[in-house]
Amino acid sequence: MSPATVMEDPIHHSQANLKTERPGATPSIPPDLTSSWRQDVHFLGDKDGKVELRSPPTFNNISDTRTHLKQHLAAAFRVFARQGFNEGHSPSTAPSTTPDPDLNAACHAHSVYGKAFSCFGRPIEMLHQDALRFYNDLAVYPRYGGTVLTTEEGDRIAAALGPTCRSVILQNHGMITCGRTVDEAAFLFITLDRCCHAQLLANAAVCPGFEKKYIPDEQAEFGHRRSGNANKMWLAFQPYYEQVVKEEPGLLL
Ligand SMILES: [Zn+2]
Repeated sequence: MSPATVMEDPIHHSQANLKTERPGATPSIPPDLTSSWRQDVHFLGDKDGKVELRSPPTFNNISDTRTHLKQHLAAAFRVFARQGFNEGHSPSTAPSTTPDPDLNAACHAHSVYGKAFSCFGRPIEMLHQDALRFYNDLAVYPRYGGTVLTTEEGDRIAAALGPTCRSVILQNHGMITCGRTVDEAAFLFITLDRCCHAQLLANAAVCPGFEKKYIPDEQAEFGHRRSGNANKMWLAFQPYYEQVVKEEPGLLL
């Protein structure tokens, strides 16, 4: 699918709407900026106050919760296949115990750019805005332990995540991304693979006069909060989910 269909930064659209408002026009309905959801996804509202963004649903019974989880897991598998992430493993729920109990889902695959970048045994650099989603939020597991078949290896990888990271580069192997939802973990995986791709291109292009410039820590930290938070990552996956469900409705059966 085209990356252009991903709603990665709703603030641009909502700001554009506000800028088209004519002087003297009826004032827009003030945005409810007390909502943490709206703050996380930078939703400022629309002129008529009619646009509502979707947010993660909540359920009051385990059966509906499981159905929702299975549907989004099935969709994530299809999305990964369309992205070419068809080597290695898969999205899953209930990963090995991580230091962060809110992480309920994990994605792992041997994506081409992820595994190419994994050979360096280091995190990506803060070279562009999308990389900020991983500022101080990307660990490296420096020990290649072969195929992860034991709980001990899984626990060591989980420990490498530490108390704050959602994602980890497995040296000489690939990547794992985690999230509070399958959707968050899946979008993080897609965007991390693209960040690895971009960094490989940048590294290959370095030459005299084309040295890399890095985003300062303060701006990177701000950017991480703004563009990498869990709610925004969930929202960014919804166009992928909706497109694959529209084109393959049978996957929800
Ligand atoms: Zn693997």
